[in-house]
Amino acid sequence: MSKFYRKIQEYSNFYCTCCGSKGIPIVRKTSKQKEPGHLKKLYCLNCKTEQNMVEIKSNSKYTVEDFYLEFENGNFLNGQRILPFKQFLKQLKERGYNNE
Ligand SMILES: [Zn+2]
Repeated sequence: MSKFYRKIQEYSNFYCTCCGSKGIPIVRKTSKQKEPGHLKKLYCLNCKTEQNMVEIKSNSKYTVEDFYLEFENGNFLNGQRILPFKQFLKQLKERGYNNE
């Protein structure tokens, strides 16, 4: 049994705020607490240029679904968030979007 055991490493996935494609994951040893969906400038294989990418940690409350929610509802402009994530969700709900 034990040979199937593998220590799960924390890693971060990155999603491009410009094109929405997935970037290169980074394994992190220590988890510094950052706000959910932290933005980081990385090279996007799809855009072929550096873009702000959203960091999604393997153990984060902020998920890929959250990213696409923001992406598809136009919360990113020129690599920046228009509204902070919590505020964005609040506004979506006010507009009648049901997240539950
Ligand atoms: Zn891109």
